[in-house]
Amino acid sequence: MSGDRRESPPVTAGGNGVVLQDKKTAPVMVPSQRLRLHPNKDHMPESYEDLQLDFSPSVFRSLEKYLPPNMLSDSREEKVKFMRDILLKYLPHGERTRAQKHGEYRQKIISHYKSIHLLKVVKERENAERLGLSEDGSEPLKRELYSMHPVTFFVPSFMKAINDNTEESLRSIISEPSPGVLTFEMLQPRFCELLVAEVENFEAWVNDTKFRVMRPNTMNKYGAVLDDFGLETMLDKLMDGFIRPISKVFFREVGGATLDSHHGFVVEYGKDWDVDLGFHVDDSEVTLNVCLGKQFSGGELFFRGTRCDKHVNTGSQPEEIFDYSHVPGGAVLHLGRHRHGVRATTSGHRINLLLWCRSSVFREIRKYQKDFSSWCGECAREKKGRQRAFIAATKSELLRQDGESVA
Ligand SMILES: [Zn+2]
Repeated sequence: MSGDRRESPPVTAGGNGVVLQDKKTAPVMVPSQRLRLHPNKDHMPESYEDLQLDFSPSVFRSLEKYLPPNMLSDSREEKVKFMRDILLKYLPHGERTRAQKHGEYRQKIISHYKSIHLLKVVKERENAERLGLSEDGSEPLKRELYSMHPVTFFVPSFMKAINDNTEESLRSIISEPSPGVLTFEMLQPRFCELLVAEVENFEAWVNDTKFRVMRPNTMNKYGAVLDDFGLETMLDKLMDGFIRPISKVFFREVGGATLDSHHGFVVEYGKDWDVDLGFHVDDSEVTLNVCLGKQFSGGELFFRGTRCDKHVNTGSQPEEIFDYSHVPGGAVLHLGRHRHGVRATTSGHRINLLLWCRSSVFREIRKYQKDFSSWCGECAREKKGRQRAFIAATKSELLRQDGESVA
């Protein structure tokens, strides 16, 4: 994969895969000129379609009618700068615009990328032959990634456990080498290879077209958001049909039964790549992390215990410290609040599929809670301490009363 796309990582929000404004380059200034109270209906606004802007071109078109009259003859760049500064002031309230913008961004990628896809049918047939797959070539090879095909995606043991859908069948395929870290065999080698090929295809397209893509989050500048180039529906089915049944059993205390949205992406690691070696928590209730390959050594995942916001930087207990070595096709499922990080890749190249699964119900409930002892290691320890102190106090009080009654 080309290295030059590493040079200018875009600014992304903390884990949402949504681009925010870089505060350094986008000072929020108070315009010296005021907008009109009523729009100038006779003014024909300029077109902003061709500019890579943070807000929809239609927002600029509408806002232009409110510009002070003396600005209307200014250059388009001047107007954009002025309007952008105003819009940025309202960013916290601009969620709707951002969502709309993100929708347009996705649409743009999907429509352009798809046309490239069709042009590449021939190339894909060649790939199909290389991989020893169907040679009739009636379908573009990787199109099958875009809808859910459980039998070709998952290993038989995983399929069987999900189909049986009992706690016992799930426990029969899942190991828990450290509390809250579930591991199991999940993806077929062929699926891994297809997804890696698709991601490489997408990256090549990004490189060719110089399309400015958003990277998955602040931690991963080497990676691609799968939801943004057409895989959202398939990944939704992956969460609904295959991850929720597991998290419902093992992670019920964090909304595991009510997962209802996801953020799906791949991250890549190579030797000497610049990666953050500290630990972090994910913006998810439950995180699925599956290794897709390829050849690599190092790059272990390490865990440091589950923590709430308040306790996220507290120390780890010895039993919370755990290292896991990835195996291609192998999945790790853990709480998003389970602090974790990745060690340096010492050779080769590793690609992982990440699915951050979220529960809107859990997030709503969490707003009104203060004690997270059902899942935060530190809250649990504090609670135990309080209980111990209470028991000790009760005991000594009983002893004192005993002493009084004897006297
Ligand atoms: Zn806590």
